[in-house]
Amino acid sequence: MKYSNYMEVTFKALSVNEGFARVCVASFCVQLEPSVDEITDIKTAVSEAVTNCVVHAYPTSVKGDVILRCELEDDVVTITVTDKGVGIKDVEKAREPFYTSKPSAERSGMGFTVMESFMDDVQVLSNSFGTSVKMTKRIKSVSSEKVG
Ligand code: ATP
Ligand code: MG
Repeated sequence: MKYSNYMEVTFKALSVNEGFARVCVASFCVQLEPSVDEITDIKTAVSEAVTNCVVHAYPTSVKGDVILRCELEDDVVTITVTDKGVGIKDVEKAREPFYTSKPSAERSGMGFTVMESFMDDVQVLSNSFGTSVKMTKRIKSVSSEKVG
């Protein structure tokens, strides 16, 4: 292992924090000197995961935490977005394109599909205590000189 770093931030599940989460991850990943396309992909995926916490995890007016963790190991970025909300009963169904539990709220049901298309791997762990979405992406533009 030549390069290893991580950061973790916790914020309230409010839509005003979606932009903060995007910028936060993008700023942290800059040390790998990703391409503009790569950083845009990461920001988009983070946005979808955090928006899900904001929209779905805490259905009552009492909003809980979103924990955003970003790990760098050599040229691989791993981002974990965790909430302590209601959880997802059927993860397989939730990941289907166009599935949404909120069709009336102008949701298209494409959040997980977007995460899957912009990242290399997406894992979803969920139970009645909350949900954790772990996404990885290899930064192809990284050379050994950049992170050495
Ligand atoms: P879109 O992302 O297109 O606005 P969406 O959020 O409904 O619509 P997905 O992001 O694909 O679509 O999520 C699918 C479904 O999974 C959601 O409708 C919701 O029922 C459930 N879900 C996703 N994330 C969470 C979460 N963190 N907590 C609870 N339920 C979730
Ligand atoms: Mg969504």
